[in-house]
Amino acid sequence: MTPNPALKGRTADTVKLLINGSFVESRTGEWHDVVNPATQEVLAQVPFATDAEIDAAVAAAKAAYKTWKNTPLAARARIMLKLQALVREHMSRIARTLSAEQGKTIADAEGDVFRGLEVVEHACSIGSLQMGEFAENVAGGVDTYTLRQPIGVCAGITPFNFPAMIPLWMFPMAIVCGNTFVLKPSEQDPLTPMLLAQLALEAGVPPGVLNIIHGGKRAVDAICTHPDIAAISFVGSTAVGTHVYNLGTQHGKRVQAMMGAKNHAVVLPDANKEQSLNALVGATFGAAGQRCMATSVTVLVGEAQRWIPDIVAKAKTLKVNAGSEQGTDVGPVISRAAKQRILGLLEDGVREGAKLELDGRGIKVNGFENGNFIGPTIFSGVTPTMKIYTTEIFGPVMVIVGVQTLNEAIDLINKNPFGNGTGLFTQSGAAARKFQNEIDVGQVGINVPIPVPVPFFSFTGSRGSKLGDLGPYGKQVIQFYTQTKTVTSRWFDDSTTGGGVNTTISLK
Ligand code: NAD
Repeated sequence: MTPNPALKGRTADTVKLLINGSFVESRTGEWHDVVNPATQEVLAQVPFATDAEIDAAVAAAKAAYKTWKNTPLAARARIMLKLQALVREHMSRIARTLSAEQGKTIADAEGDVFRGLEVVEHACSIGSLQMGEFAENVAGGVDTYTLRQPIGVCAGITPFNFPAMIPLWMFPMAIVCGNTFVLKPSEQDPLTPMLLAQLALEAGVPPGVLNIIHGGKRAVDAICTHPDIAAISFVGSTAVGTHVYNLGTQHGKRVQAMMGAKNHAVVLPDANKEQSLNALVGATFGAAGQRCMATSVTVLVGEAQRWIPDIVAKAKTLKVNAGSEQGTDVGPVISRAAKQRILGLLEDGVREGAKLELDGRGIKVNGFENGNFIGPTIFSGVTPTMKIYTTEIFGPVMVIVGVQTLNEAIDLINKNPFGNGTGLFTQSGAAARKFQNEIDVGQVGINVPIPVPVPFFSFTGSRGSKLGDLGPYGKQVIQFYTQTKTVTSRWFDDSTTGGGVNTTISLK
């Protein structure tokens, strides 16, 4: 083998590509640092795969599909059973890697892995999930039935904020349905998905069934236009998701894009104050606000507007520190660039006249002076035209809007371009029922701050938060990763005679 010039002079560990069952060094000239957001330590360098490497990954997936699609259901399910056992066994190792490259606390990193693990558990019941339908005697001696068949090579493009859960939303469900897969994880935290891929191979996923390439826009565009890719599952921002959806569908692919958010939590004055405010503060500032389902707008209705000082007092108790440290509530944001973007939005909020109730901009964390920290920040008096209201901030920031009625709150939320998640805090069943009926948002929580569905339901989304009809897990994902074939059959008894040429289409 000729020496790989791409590795010359490289001191940090290199992230590998996974092609046809082997972890291989890229020969690319483009490498990016994977950085610990609490310390700026370079953990590894990730290659942006060449066009030839992307083609090789897709070719491996295409070749493997020929046999994998006919692998018995039970054999596929058994691999998922093994994978779930391995992920469980290696949970703390995965969580430590995840925390180092993403910044989350260890407890939150374990939650990230666990929510993905639940999808692997769901994949184990593929035997009953992938069943077709059967109707006997749709006409005399005629039966009709459906087959749910895999669709070919599928691809996944994932964001930085859940480097375990979101890859696990995708490849287990795609491959358990009989497809093969090419994953392109976020270039900001690719080490966690690589650990999951190692476990998948150990569990028995055959060569070529799961492949991983790394990269940015060029790799994403190659996936969207590649003639041998049948379907793409994307999770990330609305701008990139819309691009992926448009380019992918123009090239004949089935695409689902789960995208950005601005999640409103509505607090009615009859809510259980202590429980609701605790939930709100956790849902806003946990994971440094970098959850697609984080509460980003708090809507206080009527008398509940008096609770602002209580919210501020609770936010002040949160401990900002590196995710690796005991007792941390709020870790760093993912990168220096993300920190600068968030600080710019906070400046906009001040300039536009919102009241800064709690200012986390100047925070210093002892021992982690280089970390990308922003302390919990709260604005009140926010109006729907302010940039801090219209833009997804994706940081530890709460914007508070005051309204007088539940109707006003519903109207505000339904006018927002995003429709990912929302919540209502109340003790009134009538108010809750009205809210769930009238709100146009994918995930609704009633006294539940981050209503991410468990895997037997599907993750949904409305308006600017989702493109494509079907969600990434639950029953919908089986439809996404399969196509239905409808067979109408009649069997002639050898002794049957008669009949004649029939020129009508009726089966009566
Ligand atoms: P992102 O859109 O920047 O990146 C997502 C993926 O697209 C990554 O793999 C990245 O490499 C790639 N990418 C980045 N820029 C690109 C470009 N110009 N062209 C093509 N591909 C590009 O998102 P992110 O910052 O990694 O993640 C945060 C975003 O993801 C937030 O908007 C958040 O709300 C959203 N998100 C949504 C959900 C959901 O289920 N709705 C879940 C998690 C995150």
